[in-house]
Parts: sequence; structure tokens; C-alpha cells
Amino acid sequence: MSSSTTIFDKILSGDLPADRVYEDDHVLAFKDIYPAAPVHILVIPKKKFTSFADFAAASPDELGIYIQRISLVAEKLGLNEDGYRVVFNHGRDGGQTVDYVHGHILAGRSLSWPPG
Ligand code: 5GP
Repeated sequence: MSSSTTIFDKILSGDLPADRVYEDDHVLAFKDIYPAAPVHILVIPKKKFTSFADFAAASPDELGIYIQRISLVAEKLGLNEDGYRVVFNHGRDGGQTVDYVHGHILAGRSLSWPPG
């Protein structure tokens, strides 16, 4: 998978605008530009990994902090009571279109299962 500069690198650096909802030393969370649900947030680690499989080789600390931050963002957005879904798309069949690992937080309506 390519490690070339992606739109998410540009959002992280500030070269592209994004509607940021949370940021700290470890992660950036921003609204998806084409929301698939009333709430659709993307959470990226500031340290770049190109895919979910690539990210799985990160340290347990990095992975743990990232998962905690996804949960924190959902909590801050008030999603815990009604619920939400976290999705990682990996590779072609998974529907990954940006080669920078990102978790989708989807909420705000009852989400169907299985995904298409
Ligand atoms: P993927 O398909 O790789 O799992 O998810 C990439 C997501 O990035 C898509 O949901 C798409 O709508 C979103 N996206 C693509 N370009 C931009 C952009 O320029 N800004 C923002 N905020 N989201 C984007």
C-alpha cells in the first residue's frame, strides 16, 4: 500500500481544511466530508500508518491510546447512550479509499446490519 501524501496528511498538517471535533497529542478527529450517517467522524492517529494491517504492528501503547481516544470522542459527542459503530475499511474489498489508517465513528440513526 502506498505511503505517499494523502488528503488526511494534508488535513493533519492544516494544508486542507476540515471540521475538527477533537485533537490532542495522539489523534485528530474530524467530520467526514460525505457523511454516511447523521454523525460521521474520522479518527486518525497523528503517527501515520497506511492501513489497518499496518497499524496493527504499532506498539500496544499506541493502539491502546488510539482506542481510548475513539471512545473519548464518542463520549464527548454524547453518543454512548444511543450507541454508535466504529468501522475500519482495509484494502480494496474493504472499501479503503485513503491510505492513512482511520476509524469511522457512525451514529445518529439505527444502523443496518450487515453492511453492503
Ligand atoms: P475509507 O473509504 O478510506 O474507509 O474512508 C475515507 C473517508 O474519507 C470517506 O468516508 C470519505 O467521505 C472521506 N473523505 C474523503 N475526502 C475527504 C476530505 O477531503 N475531507 C474529509 N473530511 N473527509 C474526506
